[in-house]
Formats: sequence, structure tokens, C-alpha cells
Amino acid sequence: MPELPEVETVRQGLIQGIQGKTIADVLIRREGLRYPFPDDLATVAGCTINGIRRRAKYLLIDLDDDRVLLSHLGMSGRYTLFDSDEAKANAKPLLKTVNGGVPVSSFGDLTGHGGKHDHLEFVFEDGARAVYTDPRRFGIIDLFPATAEAEHPLLVALGPEPFDPWDANALAARLNGRRTAIKLALLDQKTVVGVGNIYACESLHRAGLSPRREAKGLVKANGEPTARLEALVGHIKDVLNEALEAGGSTLNDFAAVDGTLGYFAHQFAVYGREGLPCQKEGCGGVVRRLVQSNRSTFYCPSCQR
Ligand SMILES: [Zn+2]
Repeated sequence: MPELPEVETVRQGLIQGIQGKTIADVLIRREGLRYPFPDDLATVAGCTINGIRRRAKYLLIDLDDDRVLLSHLGMSGRYTLFDSDEAKANAKPLLKTVNGGVPVSSFGDLTGHGGKHDHLEFVFEDGARAVYTDPRRFGIIDLFPATAEAEHPLLVALGPEPFDPWDANALAARLNGRRTAIKLALLDQKTVVGVGNIYACESLHRAGLSPRREAKGLVKANGEPTARLEALVGHIKDVLNEALEAGGSTLNDFAAVDGTLGYFAHQFAVYGREGLPCQKEGCGGVVRRLVQSNRSTFYCPSCQR
């Protein structure tokens, strides 16, 4: 599942590829994904893309008629961009976006499964195309006036973004008095958005914190963050920033077609490493997996307390 750094990488790729372009046509090949497509989706034809923002894992595409096209990649959504019909003819994608490390494809056979999961296709006036492919169809597409964004039901309850000015004080205020496990608190989008399962595991490991530790135990009696919570926030920012940098570097390498885009998989210290030695120097522990709220948590019982 694409997490925040992957979505940010997609955003940067879309900015490079389609910002400033005018949509000539939108090809809609099914009625919807997780939800039905908006009835007026085809009316984006004629609009120019002014900008592409991100809120949590939602891509917010600003149209020049003061509407916003919202796109969430769900479990398996991805965009593939082609610079022109010539690129299409050559079957040479400009950008291959992320899909959890699974090799991604381009047009038709190149987008995978013979193109049958290419549910939406934006055709631009200059011949460029953006193809949205989503085999599991958990993605979301919505379209609404910019004035409705603040109250949009998917956006209104989201917590803060995990970058500046978010800090340990903000996290402490959110965790104060809560008995929930710290791992689950980090996955709660009202606590902070977009940390996600992989990056929550990695951050807790770096911080040496047990994923099961009660959230409120990381907050002082006066409501201020403990030193351990301060450290955790630093690790969360580090882990996400490293993933952003990894995503940015893969984005610049259009030749990378081997499925390594997105997750910085080779750098995971605990995620997906059940039964393998802890990579923390001098630890000597073995990574374990436990299930919290139906999600796998990977951690080292020796150095995470
Ligand atoms: Zn360890």
C-alpha cells in the first residue's frame, strides 16, 4: 500500500508530468472504485491543472475553474504518465509510480493485466496521458468546489502532517491520558497523518520503544512530552524524510523499471524481517511479529522496551 512518502513521490511526478497541462478528455472505464465516480467527472475536460497538493495520502489536483480533483491511491492505485501519443506508440512510459514494490507497468500490456485495470485515463491537449491503474480498486476519486475542501468528509477530521511545525508537544497533547498502544496511536490519522504501518514500525525500532507501550506513559504528568517521546518524533521525521529522498531519487531515474520504486525496502531495519537478527548494533535480538488491530507489527523484543 502506498504510504505518505510514496504518495508524495507520486505528487512530485505528477507536477513534473501534468501540471500546467489542459485536459482534453477523460476516459472513464468503470462506474467507480471504492466509491462511485462523481457524476460530473467528465466535466474536468477543458480544465487546466494549476497545481497538485497533498493532504495526508490524498492528492488534491487544483483545476483552473476552482474545483479540486481528489485522488487516493488506496491499496494498489498508480499513475503512469506518457508524454505524447508518440510515447504511447513507443510504449515508453515517462514515469512509473509506486505500487508497494510490485513492478509497475505502462500502457496496455505495460500497465499490467493487459490494461484491464486502467480505470481512468486523462488525455491532455498536447497528447500527453495520465493513466490511473488500480487492480484492487480501493482508490478514491472525487471532484468538488475548492470552497468545499475544508469541510470535505474525507479531509475534515485529519490530524496534523508529520513534518514541521508538528512536534513532540503536539503529539503529547494527543496521547495524554490514552491507554492505547503507541503503535496504534501512531496509525490513528487523528493523531498524525500518513505515518503508516511500515514507518511506524521503523520509527519505534529506532526509538527503542515497544509497540505495545501505553501511549499515556510517554507523556509527563504535566502534559509535556517525555524525552523518549521527543526522540520518537525525531525518528518519525527522519524515517519519513529518508523515504521521501529515496522516492525522489527513484523518480529522477526513469530507467528504473525493475519494481524498486517507492519503498526504500532495502533500508528497513525491522519491517518484514521476522526471525532475522535485529540490525541495531550490539543488540543481538531477533525480530518478532505481532498483530495489533489486524496489522502486522515487526519489532525487536530485546531493544524495544
Ligand atoms: Zn534489537
